[in-house]
Amino acid sequence: MGNQMPSENSNLFSSSTDLPPERILEVQSLRKYFPIRKGFIKKTVGHVKSVDGINFHINEGETLGLVGESGCGKTTTARCILRAMKPTEGKIQFKTTDGSHTDLATLKEDQIRSLRTDIQMIFQDPFASLNPRMNILDLIGEPMLVNGLTNRKQRTEKVAELLKMVGLRPEYMQRFPHAFSGGQRQRIVIARALALKPRLVVADEPVSALDVSVQAQVLNLMLELQQNLNLTYLFVAHDLSVVKHISDRIAVMYVGKIVESAPTDSLFNKPKHPYTAALLSAVPVADPRIRSQMIPLEGDVPSPASPPNGCHFHPRCPYASEICKKEEPNMQEIEPMHFVSCHHFKDIQLKGI
Ligand code: SF4
Repeated sequence: MGNQMPSENSNLFSSSTDLPPERILEVQSLRKYFPIRKGFIKKTVGHVKSVDGINFHINEGETLGLVGESGCGKTTTARCILRAMKPTEGKIQFKTTDGSHTDLATLKEDQIRSLRTDIQMIFQDPFASLNPRMNILDLIGEPMLVNGLTNRKQRTEKVAELLKMVGLRPEYMQRFPHAFSGGQRQRIVIARALALKPRLVVADEPVSALDVSVQAQVLNLMLELQQNLNLTYLFVAHDLSVVKHISDRIAVMYVGKIVESAPTDSLFNKPKHPYTAALLSAVPVADPRIRSQMIPLEGDVPSPASPPNGCHFHPRCPYASEICKKEEPNMQEIEPMHFVSCHHFKDIQLKGI
């Protein structure tokens, strides 16, 4: 208990040569800063620290939920892992099919291309991510075609197989995206993401645009596919209730930093960071006694261009003291796999659900 971790600038985890074999992804001291430019010569006057020194890992077959309010840096983290943008600093160790780990953060464009089939993305808005002028056969078959499956008959058979896998009828493959409901479109997006047999799927708010009843169906489908295909998920969401049923562990992000991470049950039952407790207060619970003890989250998320000194959460934290305004808390492991970054985690009693 209470093991203090090294400073965030040091390499918090093992190096690429001695990562555990079950580790498919390990993010080490990841930073993504965007320059703020002003004036005629576009001089850099500051940085938006969208992701500011975060560490986490995912084991094969596991789901990590990455949760936080809008603007906390979770989507930027996902985009760095997919190398849709180049990180400013840090390592993204990914386990390749030969069992070795490679740093995605430093790979050149042609090297990344060979790993693209292993990591796929599911986006929030299924309508925006499907070209309305392509039918479902071509939409799902396109990644296969790009990767060399030129035989149309074989592609059609594989698309039919994928449609069945996501609970849609193969006869639908000649239809266009507008003929489907939101939930069906997200199933098509999932089928497209699975077309190249990825090992890691990064899902960015995959059910946020769907009705609540449909959300549960898509989450159940993702769970079923994970079991059948041994998929690993990084599941990004703003809502803890969405990640609860799908995640093995959850990492909570606030203004570019991870403030708490834990196995899902520990995080829900025994939150140690006031921000996590505040996010939990937004999760619907039937018992009014529990609801009355929750911390409502007030105020806005500070700008990552000029975050508050010390603990970034202090302007919104009901437990903030002088030290919180001056010193950034260290990340500490308080129970196996339960990490928290708060000066007062030992003194404050937070309610879980
Ligand atoms: Fe609140 Fe202080 Fe803990 Fe930050 S360090 S969460 S301000 S008690």
